[in-house]
Order: sequence, then C-alpha cells, then structure tokens
Amino acid sequence: MKRLSVIVSDFDDTLFFNKTALVSAAKDLYETVLMEKNSEEDYKTLNDLEITIGKGKIPKGFSKKWKSELYTLAYVKYNGKLLPNEPLIKYLNEGIMGGNQLIILSARGEEFREQTEALLNAYSLNYSEVILAENHELKDEEWKLLKIKELSEKYDHLILFEDKEENIRYILNNLKVDNIECYLVDHSIITKI
Ligand SMILES: [Mg+2]
Repeated sequence: MKRLSVIVSDFDDTLFFNKTALVSAAKDLYETVLMEKNSEEDYKTLNDLEITIGKGKIPKGFSKKWKSELYTLAYVKYNGKLLPNEPLIKYLNEGIMGGNQLIILSARGEEFREQTEALLNAYSLNYSEVILAENHELKDEEWKLLKIKELSEKYDHLILFEDKEENIRYILNNLKVDNIECYLVDHSIITKI
C-alpha cells in the first residue's frame, strides 16, 4: 500500500525572508510613535524599534499593540518586500513532483491569508493547503505542536521544514511519535534535527 506522505513548511524566514519588510515597517512605526505624546512606553517602543530597524528582528518584550501594528505593516503594506528562499522553494517543488503533498503551516495568522497565498502563488509553490493561526491565544510553538500532532495522525509520514530550532526541539520533545522528520532551514542550508 502506498504511504501517505506530507511535507509541512513554515512560512516566515523559512520560505520567505521578512527582514527587509520588517525594517521598513519599523521605520514607519518609529515615525508614528515619535508623533505621539511622550510616555515611558513610547520611549521603550522607540528603543525596540531601533533594534528592529538595525537588525530586522523584534526584541523580546515588545509591546503587544505595537507588535501587531508592526506585523500588519510588514505583511500587508510591505508584502512585496518579502524575499523568496529560492533554493528551498525549488527543493520543495521537486518533493511535490516526487508525490508528496505540501502544507504551509504558519502562526502569522488568518488575517494575512490573502498576502500569504499571493506570495506562494507568485513563486509557483504547488501547495495543497495553507494552515494559519485562527487567533493568537496560544504561543506560536504551542499552536504549531497542536497542528503537527493533528497532521501526524492523518499522514503516515511527515517532513517538517522550519527556521526556528527551538520550535523543532519543542515539537520533538512534546510529540512522542516516530513518523516525523524535522529539518532546520537557514537560507539554503538544511540540517536534519
Ligand atoms: Mg519562521
């Protein structure tokens, strides 16, 4: 009997790099915060935004309100600035031609479905499903674990691609199944964990 096999891939910083979009979004937000009344929160927000503008990364403890504004700017206004991980896209499309299904699994949220699918289609990724977080009640890694568990019950074999090693470790430590294979993605470097 043919085994049902699925490739599951994360989106941000795995299939598409969001650093340039985040930096542009942080610059916009920086201007907005500057124009608002001075408060202690704004001072911290400005510092955090400076870090994002410099490194393209969101610092820990970044205010929830501003974080959501930042992602909305990055994923909607600057969606066109997300850059494809072309070697991985090519590799996954070859996997699909070899008979695997591709599912995109991202905690970025349902609110960005249109932009997410537009990018996938623009780079001809033959995915069968895009699963996005319905809300942000769970931590990203907890939500991913839940979805991977559901998928591991549905398929005989699951191959996961993800850029955050801590997410992979969290899934492997909490999901005691032997039908998943996890790969850490760092640009074109893919390492089995
Ligand atoms: Mg990611």
